[in-house]
Amino acid sequence: MKKRYLLCPQCGTHRFFVKDENGENVYFHVDWDNVPFPTEASDADLSNKDFSVVHSTGCSWKGGIKGLVKYLR
Ligand SMILES: [Zn+2]
Repeated sequence: MKKRYLLCPQCGTHRFFVKDENGENVYFHVDWDNVPFPTEASDADLSNKDFSVVHSTGCSWKGGIKGLVKYLR
């Protein structure tokens, strides 16, 4: 089954990133079960990453995964 993406509450993007231990951006999506998974482009290793603050790729929003939305209002 196709995964459905959670969205940035401000701009509606479905692509987010966190900084890894080397200061590099790690890109991912988040599914409707609040589980991060890699983008096809990055195929990143998401194990041992800190998702307490995730950054929107479309605007300046950042926050916890619980702040993401299923639908943009
Ligand atoms: Zn955004």
